[in-house]
Amino acid sequence: MLHIACDVHTHTIFSRHAYSTIEENVRAAAEGRIELLGSTDHFSRMVHPARGDTYDLRDFQHFINCHCWPRMWHGVRLLHGCEADIVDLDGHLFGHDVWCPTAINGYPYSEPRNLKERVFSSCDYVIASVHDNSFAAGATLSQTTEMYVRVLEDPKVLILGHVGRASVPFDIDEVLTVAGERGKLIEINDSTLNGYEDESLICRRIAERCAELGVMVSTGTDAHISAAVGAFGRTRAMLEEIGFPQRLVATADADTFLDVMRRAVG
Ligand SMILES: [Zn+2]
Ligand SMILES: [Zn+2]
Repeated sequence: MLHIACDVHTHTIFSRHAYSTIEENVRAAAEGRIELLGSTDHFSRMVHPARGDTYDLRDFQHFINCHCWPRMWHGVRLLHGCEADIVDLDGHLFGHDVWCPTAINGYPYSEPRNLKERVFSSCDYVIASVHDNSFAAGATLSQTTEMYVRVLEDPKVLILGHVGRASVPFDIDEVLTVAGERGKLIEINDSTLNGYEDESLICRRIAERCAELGVMVSTGTDAHISAAVGAFGRTRAMLEEIGFPQRLVATADADTFLDVMRRAVG
């Protein structure tokens, strides 16, 4: 049986349309024999509306105090990241254009940084995903391909999230090849395999090309409630059906994932 022991795409109540706390997710991971849990709440305008015409660090402060989290909790290795929205065809990520001059207590920061940099600096890794694809309407395949290539250039981005579900077609081989060269990962998203028939076929095709091109994948349930943490039945079934090689599963165990992450993420 294909070994998968890390769930590196999960959400807590800080995503607002998710329902469990971080400790509930950790306990569910422990019960499901998950060695490593990655908590990746949405970093997105879906979560908080702009204040006026900009965003406020105070609405995203749950990302910047994660150093208080235990690295091992209930026997589970715990990582903190985020799922950042891709917001344009240039491959920019949410928060890149939001000036963030003051800390949450109102004191001025000594170094100028934008909201994305503030949040990413406290993340172990970042998943980059498209949720609102309206910016890509009418885009050419070369534009959307270039978008994903540029996203992979961000030093904190480790994983391209649910690329088969975004309804943004792209040159699969080109993006996978760049990901492979940079040691970055293509996500197999268990939620997408649940009821999204057409998208599931795309995911399967992407997984097959990862296998053929030697590109590593990550596994994420995209759980929005603790009961779904670590439930990889659909992912495992699909990967086993296509004979996906174990050596390309970056989430096989905690040590493998940590090694991949340390090599790829700046
Ligand atoms: Zn969500
Ligand atoms: Zn997502």
